[in-house]
Amino acid sequence: MIDLHVHSTYSDGCDNVETLLKHAEKNKLEVIAITDHNTIEAYKYEILDYKKYFTGRVITGCEVSTILEKDIIEILGYKIDVVRFDKFLKQYFSDERKLEILKKGLEFLYRKADEKGLKCDKVAYETLKSSDILTRLFNWEIAKHPENKSIYMQDAWENNTIFIRNYLSNPSSEWFIDNSLDYPSTKEVIDEIHKAGGLAFVAHPLEYSVQNIYDILDKIKKMGIDGIEIFHLSANIERRKGLIKYAEQNNLYMSGGSDYHRIDHPLKHSLVGDLRFSLVIEKNIIKSWINEV
Ligand SMILES: [Zn+2]
Repeated sequence: MIDLHVHSTYSDGCDNVETLLKHAEKNKLEVIAITDHNTIEAYKYEILDYKKYFTGRVITGCEVSTILEKDIIEILGYKIDVVRFDKFLKQYFSDERKLEILKKGLEFLYRKADEKGLKCDKVAYETLKSSDILTRLFNWEIAKHPENKSIYMQDAWENNTIFIRNYLSNPSSEWFIDNSLDYPSTKEVIDEIHKAGGLAFVAHPLEYSVQNIYDILDKIKKMGIDGIEIFHLSANIERRKGLIKYAEQNNLYMSGGSDYHRIDHPLKHSLVGDLRFSLVIEKNIIKSWINEV
């Protein structure tokens, strides 16, 4: 089994690299990729001697926020040269830039909260750090006051993923934050992954609030994408079949992963191979590309 989509404390995961690798060993994974949001820090130091904790194989990875027209689409890069890719990431995702984007986002959300009559202490702004997660901070400030529950969007109450996908990243929502000038374009990221010697995959295609994901996939395919993340909790078995067919018809590679962030996530899952978690991803889905590049 494999797990090619895992977050560490270098982005918004709750487990550090060592813990993740120990879990991977316990779950008997054969291949793992740590794919933090917009950073490859996990690969700079600790992973260098991962063999201490994990007897399987580690491939390099990163999940990059990109802009396709107005939508945020995440692209996974695998087997990238991390030194080269880091130089690219720093242009868009330096600490100073991240803090600037966060401030802008939080100011917008506070304004929205006032408009809606939501109670919000606005304390997060004072102690903002570049590693903070905007949705988590804001949703937490809202959820602190139970009286907000009847005014707030029911599906987003204490659910950051829904808050992001259905509201913040949804251009037709009044909560939409336009990051189109902050993040690199999808095409640029695919090209940079290739320049760093890696392969580019569309992350969890069914998680985006877009009209027709296959139209989006057609556009991304023309930009030179190599594959699609098909084995993911957002795709049930029926929809997974559709994605597999699309990948086969378009000569695209497949990948998959748990997208593990934290155990207190609404889905309460951990890495692939965890007994509480039903997603099983066999190594043979990646055999066509794992030794390429
Ligand atoms: Zn992810």
